[in-house]
Amino acid sequence: NLEELSGLPPGAVSHFQQEGIESLYPPQAEAVEAGATEGENLVAAVPTASGKTMIATLAMLSAVERGGKALYIVPLRALASEKKAEFDAFESFGVTTGVTTGNYESTDDWLATKDVIVATSEKVDSLVRNGADWLTDLTCVVSDEVHLIDDRNRGPTLEVTLAKLRRLNPALQVVALSATVGNADEIADWLDAELVHSDWRPIDLRMGVHYGNALEFDDGSTREVPVEGSEKQEAALVRDILQEGGSSLVFVNSRRNAEAAARRLGGVSRRELTDEERTELADLADEIREDSDTETSRDLADCVERGSAFHHAGLSSTQRSLVEDAFRDRLLKVISATPTLAAGVNTPARRVIVRDWRRFDPSAGGMAPLDVLEVHQMMGRAGRPGLDPYGEAVLLANSHDDREELFDRYVWADPEAVRSKLAAEPALRTHVLATIASGFARTREGLLEFLEATLYASQSSEAGRLERVTDEVLAYLERNDFVARSGGGSESDQDTGAFTAAADLAESTDEDLEATSLGHTVSRLYLDPMSAAEIVHGLEGADERPTALGLYQLVSRTPDMYELYLRSGEDEKFGELFYEREAELLGDPPSEYEDHRFEDWLAALKTGKLLADWAAEDDEEALTERYKIGPGDLRGKVDTAEWLLGAAESLAREIDSEWTVAVREARARVEHGVSEELLELVSVRGVGRKRARQLYAAGIEEPADLRTVDKGVVLGVLKGEKTAETILENAGREDPSMDGVEPIEPDGTVAT
Ligand code: ADP
Repeated sequence: NLEELSGLPPGAVSHFQQEGIESLYPPQAEAVEAGATEGENLVAAVPTASGKTMIATLAMLSAVERGGKALYIVPLRALASEKKAEFDAFESFGVTTGVTTGNYESTDDWLATKDVIVATSEKVDSLVRNGADWLTDLTCVVSDEVHLIDDRNRGPTLEVTLAKLRRLNPALQVVALSATVGNADEIADWLDAELVHSDWRPIDLRMGVHYGNALEFDDGSTREVPVEGSEKQEAALVRDILQEGGSSLVFVNSRRNAEAAARRLGGVSRRELTDEERTELADLADEIREDSDTETSRDLADCVERGSAFHHAGLSSTQRSLVEDAFRDRLLKVISATPTLAAGVNTPARRVIVRDWRRFDPSAGGMAPLDVLEVHQMMGRAGRPGLDPYGEAVLLANSHDDREELFDRYVWADPEAVRSKLAAEPALRTHVLATIASGFARTREGLLEFLEATLYASQSSEAGRLERVTDEVLAYLERNDFVARSGGGSESDQDTGAFTAAADLAESTDEDLEATSLGHTVSRLYLDPMSAAEIVHGLEGADERPTALGLYQLVSRTPDMYELYLRSGEDEKFGELFYEREAELLGDPPSEYEDHRFEDWLAALKTGKLLADWAAEDDEEALTERYKIGPGDLRGKVDTAEWLLGAAESLAREIDSEWTVAVREARARVEHGVSEELLELVSVRGVGRKRARQLYAAGIEEPADLRTVDKGVVLGVLKGEKTAETILENAGREDPSMDGVEPIEPDGTVAT
């Protein structure tokens, strides 16, 4: 019973009651018994959608009530906004929430006044590196989806960040929320935490396999779901549940498959729509088309009109939320998605269909089965408490053998154990530098001692491996002038980092490790040291002013940019471009005989060329078609390039490079997607790349022209009076009013 909870801010309990929460779910009650509201460390390994957030909330609110401050770490930006919206409701009883995700170079001091802070793990890591003082005020930290420590790319950041936060405040309460995994007990040991491990779910979940015309469930029950004519299995399953008023989520293994499935399933969903829904869906489709004018958007909008959608990382974030919201409102009947959705936001459906349980795995050189953990997370999206009588998760079998295998592999199986990925070199390279630069370790011994507090160390069975890799990484960092060893023996008085208090201050006989000024910059910029080394080397070797393409290819070559792959035939195309533009490329180009490196350079050249084309004002649609990517990919590459070139500018300044201005200009051009000559115009709020080009063509070349030119010219270009007025106002024109102004067409004629 909620009323029995003590230690929460007054008003919290009635808030939850208003939200429809009367009593705690069993795992929540267990968590409270284990001390969640009394500052105890806790690992809660509970199925998806079983109220994990509430466990965290109880811990955070009681920490705040005791005068403390809580941090909620999420794995995705989209989740940060979802949680922030949820926690904002705590304002009603006086608890304030702040959210921070982007900009890895700030300390966000304004957060010091907030009670609860929501941030991604990368953001928290960067806050530690930048020495945000308020981190030492934290008394409670929540790690959502902590099983992602297993993720090769992002896991190490979360792991090291948790270790650092605990070092900053040894009394910190850690609450880790996890999907049900194979070794929750190990994670609990690592965090010195109590473990709540439960399979309880608020709504029944039936897992089953569809084969032939029948759906067989784990509880022994079966249901006839006949496949008609040339229909696909998933279509039959979607139709079947839709006729009962239930929605479906179909997981497939690639973007292309998600799009194709959405088109086909639209044929099923459109038959079940009411007139009112059709109208609402048409409006939604228009919103999607307005968001971006590309083939992907148009495809999506066409599907949406018929009640179906696809969801993958190629969509813009606006499009993704439009789709998610409409699905939650039951306006959209079916979504076909790549697995990104499973880890992401709250989008339950009556029936989850895991159509593809194999996916292309480059390291295996072919198709490989998905992890049990991943499939269970997809399946866990089935069933909406209060809306559906139960949830159903279905795998699709093509043969009798398949059917057996699917039951064994996924329905009856336990999920895998979480394994630390910290010892992988890129991860360690980044985190060792950051650990030294932010003052958590000042000697090799201190560094090893710090690393001992990671999950990796507690799991590692191979003696000496961590030490060996650490030494290799230290050597790399020294070679590139990011870290220096100073003398030895004595304890340095110098302030070597943001958190000197956290450093290993013990008397040491070891040589001192210090981040160089360049090393500090790299750590603060949140770059992989290898990216920084590549950029520094490229800039230092440039005898002439680097071109935009040269700089774009350079940053595309770094491990911080996910390059575009070369499609078949493209190695030739970009090979030609390579020879044509070789003089512009920075650094040491590979010879044709270094196959692997050569291919890397070409892939980076492709990415660099995409950015250059964008900065040459090619439109979004042409680019997405030419490079066969979605609008979300283009924006993703542009964002990353903007960040890397911003970092490159800081590095250029640090090494006294004469090319700082060239880098800054290349960054601004990619940010706005414009040629050099438009850079001034786009600095006016409301003037994007298209408008800037039109204004320029009409003879308006800089903001000052907007203040003096005949208003009719501006109106002739911008059409709308309101738009023209706003832009003139933003440009600082004294009397921006368009009352009575006649538009003058770009060809000089006056429209009547
Ligand atoms: P998880 O984080 O485990 O995936 P959530 O915390 O999002 O799950 O919870 C799923 C839903 O259950 C939310 O809508 C939440 O409001 C609701 N919920 C959580 N706890 C309770 C409870 N004790 N009683 C009723 N509803 C609850």
